[in-house]
Amino acid sequence: MRRAGFIQSTAGGSTVAMPEFAKRPVSLTLGGSWMIVIPTDFPRPLMVQAATQRPSAPLTLQVDARNRFLVHLSQATASWEFVLHESEAGLSWFLAELDGEKKPVTVSARPVAEDELPAGACFLALQQLLDGRPLEPSTAALLDQMQPHLPCLPYLDLGENEYIYRFRTARERNSSVYVDEHSEALYQSRLCAAIKAARRTREKSSGDPAELDFGAVRYIIPSHFGFCLGVQNAIERAYETVAANPDKRVFMLSELIHNPYVNQDLLVRGLRYLQTDKGMPLRADGSLANEAEDPAALWNQLREDDIVIIPAFGATNEDKAKLIRRGIAIRDHDATCMLVEKVWKAARRYAGKGFTVIIHGKSEHEETKATFSNASSYGPALMLRNRAHAEKLAEVLRASGEERRRLFEWSFAGLYSEGFDPLRDLDKIAVVNQTTLLRNETLAIIELLKSTLVEIHGEAAVGEHIWMKGKGDTLCYATQVNQDALEKAVAQPVDAALVVGGRNSSNTFQLYRVCAAKFGERAHYIQSERNILNRDRIRHYSFPYDLENLPAHSDVERPFLDPATERPTILLTGGASCPDGIIQQVIHRINSFFPPEAIRPIESILESFRSDA
Ligand code: SF4
Repeated sequence: MRRAGFIQSTAGGSTVAMPEFAKRPVSLTLGGSWMIVIPTDFPRPLMVQAATQRPSAPLTLQVDARNRFLVHLSQATASWEFVLHESEAGLSWFLAELDGEKKPVTVSARPVAEDELPAGACFLALQQLLDGRPLEPSTAALLDQMQPHLPCLPYLDLGENEYIYRFRTARERNSSVYVDEHSEALYQSRLCAAIKAARRTREKSSGDPAELDFGAVRYIIPSHFGFCLGVQNAIERAYETVAANPDKRVFMLSELIHNPYVNQDLLVRGLRYLQTDKGMPLRADGSLANEAEDPAALWNQLREDDIVIIPAFGATNEDKAKLIRRGIAIRDHDATCMLVEKVWKAARRYAGKGFTVIIHGKSEHEETKATFSNASSYGPALMLRNRAHAEKLAEVLRASGEERRRLFEWSFAGLYSEGFDPLRDLDKIAVVNQTTLLRNETLAIIELLKSTLVEIHGEAAVGEHIWMKGKGDTLCYATQVNQDALEKAVAQPVDAALVVGGRNSSNTFQLYRVCAAKFGERAHYIQSERNILNRDRIRHYSFPYDLENLPAHSDVERPFLDPATERPTILLTGGASCPDGIIQQVIHRINSFFPPEAIRPIESILESFRSDA
């Protein structure tokens, strides 16, 4: 959907000072049915009454931290009215059609204390307004028009270099919030800590792999593996929120990260998920709701004082709007990774320059859904799965007229924004990506589309048709550095490669692809040590990457270590959502297949690291 009426922010900072108001009561007339009375002791609310003329300044609505609107109960009609004032200082929001004329509506987030509110005025969530008393007709009209713009409400003040939630520095980080006696085995690993201290000397560039020689078995571990800063931030945020709000219900939109053990640990601590990673609504007992309207669905039981955390992948505009409608303070609990938000900002920038945003990602992944939803609100957007899918888009680009339309519909049905016209909206394109995919694949897609456009428009003009500046710069460096470090590690000969991560973890799958390309069926994708059945057999997970050729079984039992191999060497890495504790458990499990006397104690391995350092 194109948000034609969007206006850029006019003020920075989340709290905007109210304008200087007149020292005596003033009445402003806004049109056929609008009049604002500005009292002398603002922020007392301003009343909307019948009037005849319209001034030019925007209408400003007052919201509180939960995105609830300041409303007034009319004495005369017992209906709710928005409390409006007129100001240039609010955060610009959308253009409303009022009495046949477009009128900018802005919002003020200035805190208003309860005792400042006069009789009959209060803050109400939109759902309460819709469910409650009748609405004054002009209030109902404004409410109708504002609904598609709701997701922008809490974020209006964010500029290009501002983020909803930035990574914490090491000093701000407090892992004791989530590492306790219940979760220590999950999150803590002395071995992983030693490897990271020795090899991960720089956050953004890979180093040489570490070698852990236990005697009977040897491990090669890349310099970078496991949790990225985005995941670590979101985990801390979730644990802190649960711990700091013992009297409140704490929900998460969907699983925090793609790791069943982390999500399970949070469930045990009382957190509940509103929906599955595919967006299916859940009930309190974790079962699937029958339908979106199911009264037992947690979505339908949300109360204003509930807390809903948005995970690192972000959320679609539709889900954000649902939360805002219910008066949930999403801004305070939005853990969207700043690198995901960086992609959204790039999409907004491209759309602003008239480019259609092509999202290289899996359409069923939460992050891609959120990016698509976000990008669609600024202009036409399209999702594209992989290089083979990009070839289809190249065919579409080469075709014209009805043939182009037919080919487009054939390959991209359900993957484009509302109103997308392949004859109009493929003239200028810009590629962004799901942050956790293979960098080389995104770059190959950009090159393929560029060469197709060179065929069509010529080399000199291609820059007008595809955005090439900083191509691929929306890839997440954390995913990239895990991949780079793995590329260094796969250069060594190994007997087996293990990639550990959740079943729906895209970045884990990309790591597995790197290993599979090198080691074939000696590379295995596992969720934890429990998938290692014994020394000879392992349960490998077949990731559903190619939707047209889905594997018959997702779990495949296959050979692990060849019994004839003495002192096997195993490459071991973990995706961005894999806690260190699981890596260490995998090592323990494999070590247990060998006689204890043939395995060097961990202390001696740690000592080697210390003397290396
Ligand atoms: S993988 Fe990258 S984009 Fe995703 S949460 Fe981690 S840092 Fe953020």
